[in-house]
This record gives sequence, structure tokens and C-alpha cells, in this order.
Amino acid sequence: MESDMDRILISREQIARRVCELGEQISETYAADEQAGLTLVTVLSGSLIFAADLIRCLPFRMKLGLITVSSYKGTSPGQPSLIQQLKVDVRDRHVLVVDDILDTGATLRLVQAQLAAAGPKSLRTCVLLRKPDKAPADVPAEFVGFDIENSFVVGYGLDYNDHYRNLPDIGVLKPEVYEEKL
Ligand code: 5GP
Ligand code: MG
Repeated sequence: MESDMDRILISREQIARRVCELGEQISETYAADEQAGLTLVTVLSGSLIFAADLIRCLPFRMKLGLITVSSYKGTSPGQPSLIQQLKVDVRDRHVLVVDDILDTGATLRLVQAQLAAAGPKSLRTCVLLRKPDKAPADVPAEFVGFDIENSFVVGYGLDYNDHYRNLPDIGVLKPEVYEEKL
């Protein structure tokens, strides 16, 4: 599987360091009383691994919520659709959305609108990756792990046709892999 990778953009060591830095930034942002009322909402499936690491860098009591959105078909973005609604009540709670990557912003626009309608006390967003060329101004992300080039990336939770999520590094696949039917 690792041999399908053309090049690594972000190594597992770089990811681990940055995730902890994000954890510190998030902990500082939410003052002590706000920490107690925080629900972290993970956008599945791509942010599964990122969220699992990030929450272990948050040394305070918090709740976890899950929402599932699907958008990509292969490497082409499609219209995002909500596959599974949030099952926890976030009314009057501080909400931090955690997603893997901010690309066109369509996915987070949908998620942020859903959560805003649920009446949270505050709403912020944390993404591991951002493609700066395309990230739109109306979809804010207060916490960003890495700004990356405009390539389709896999690994650390990010997939290509549901494969490669278990690669520990983030990188770009060899061109011939994208052409294969996986
Ligand atoms: P957006 O809706 O912002 O265009 O895209 C966000 C979603 O599309 C992400 O949550 C992610 O699931 C998927 N996505 C966007 N860019 C990439 C990419 O380079 N690689 C992978 N594997 N998924 C991506
Ligand atoms: Mg996603």
C-alpha cells in the first residue's frame, strides 16, 4: 500500500507535532468555563483519525458528536449530502467542528449550517488541511493544521475510493493508481 504513494507531503511525525499544537491552541481558546460546555463534532469518515488524536491532546472534559457527510466520488468533488445526522443535543453548548480538509468549502458550509440551526452557544471549526486556493471566505476555519498545495491527498483518514485511510503519512498517490479501478 505504501508503495502506491508517489510522494509524502506531511510525515506522521509532522502530523503528530501539529495535532498537539492545535490541541494547545484549542485549549487556550476555550477558557475554563467554556471547556466544560464543549461538544466536539467530528465529520466522518475522513476526520476519524485526526479527531481521535486531537481529542487526546485536549486535557479537559468534553463531549463528542458524530456527523457523516459524503461528497467525493474518486477524486472529483460532488454535491455533499448528509448521510447521518448529529445525534447529540448541542443547544447552548460550545461546538467545535472537526474536519479533515477544507477544499471547496461545500461540505463545511453544509455542516456549519446544520449546527448553527441547532442553537449552539458558539460555533468554531478546526481542519487538519486546507487548500488555500479554493477555501471560500464564507466558510471560516479558526484552527488550521496545514495549508497544502492543490493536489488530491490520501492517508491519515483521507481516502481514495475508501482505500488508503490507514496510511500513517499524508501524500499523493502515483498517477497510475488513480486510473485503476479500486
Ligand atoms: P469540500 O466540500 O471542502 O470541497 O471538500 C471537503 C471534503 O472533501 C473533505 O471533508 C474530504 O472528505 C473531501 N476532500 C477534499 N479534498 C480532498 C483530498 O485532497 N483528498 C481526499 N481524500 N479527500 C478530499
Ligand atoms: Mg470529509
